Amino acid sequence: MYSGEGLMFPFDYLRPQSVAEAVAAHDGEERRYLAGGQSLLAALKLRLAQPTALIDVARLPELSGIEAEPGRLVVGAGTTHAALAECREIAALARLAGSIGDLQVRNMGTLGGALANADPAGDHAAGVLGLGADIHTDRRIIAADDFFLGMFETALEPGELIVSVSYPRPRRAGYAKVRNPASGYPVAGVFVAETDDGVRVAVTGAAACPFRLTQFEMALAGDFSVAALEGLGVPAGELSRDLHASAEYRAALIPVLARRALGQGGEG
Ligand SMILES: Cc1cc2nc3c(=O)[nH]c(=O)nc-3n(C[C@H](O)[C@H](O)[C@H](O)COP(=O)(O)OP(=O)(O)OC[C@H]3O[C@@H](n4cnc5c(N)ncnc54)[C@H](O)[C@@H]3O)c2cc1C
Repeated sequence: MYSGEGLMFPFDYLRPQSVAEAVAAHDGEERRYLAGGQSLLAALKLRLAQPTALIDVARLPELSGIEAEPGRLVVGAGTTHAALAECREIAALARLAGSIGDLQVRNMGTLGGALANADPAGDHAAGVLGLGADIHTDRRIIAADDFFLGMFETALEPGELIVSVSYPRPRRAGYAKVRNPASGYPVAGVFVAETDDGVRVAVTGAAACPFRLTQFEMALAGDFSVAALEGLGVPAGELSRDLHASAEYRAALIPVLARRALGQGGEG
């Protein structure tokens, strides 16, 4: 155990060897899991979080690995964006992961950390929501539709650890975004997928939390093509407005991105 006293503020650093040990170590809201540190360490430096202990889960064997199963791809929560970008099992997911940040962020940042952080502009949010993935934690399975509750807010309970994400393999899928040129975060991003359970269209970066576009989904259900989106729009009312883009700009962007995602060749 290492005490960081004098560096920033005092905290303990814990390195558990298993999921059970990690969860047992998280015995209060003041403790935080540490994965790639790409969001958490910045929050510590800015004093947005002042945990009494960091529980390092980055190297837990139970959180590692990508497994191709019949009809599904199961990705360990500790999988880096870079590793997922190199996995060709679901091409749209690889494209999404490869679009995140820069090389350092992709080499360090993890799927589990990105989902738990629930940044309103997180790329992975569009992937899990667009594919209808299941998020497996140490204690239950949370459907992507139930996971994101608001800005930086998820259905995770205090101390609940994401272990893996189970993605259904789509028949066809695509992801398109407009990057913030400084960070790589999407000003808006749209994931479209045709799965065995139907068509899903998920948007990130455009509101407090990711959302599905049911009107687009219904249109694409009968005809999974750009033509089916003809005349469809998105109201600006609920969309984010910030220094990167107005709500009206995002409203105009989303249908364009949906068409680009559809035009990516359509492979799963
Ligand atoms: C310069 C820069 C550019 C970026 N650009 C993008 C971008 O273009 N698109 C994008 O989507 N993201 C971007 N990010 C964020 C990046 O994707 C981070 O990797 C991600 O937000 C956090 O993942 P992490 O593994 O680093 O988690 P950490 O920073 O270690 O943790 C983040 C939060 O998740 C919790 N946590 C970590 N792992 C788990 C787990 N398994 N279960 C439960 N809770 C857990 C932690 O306690 C903490 O609260 C960028 C970050 C930086 C610094």
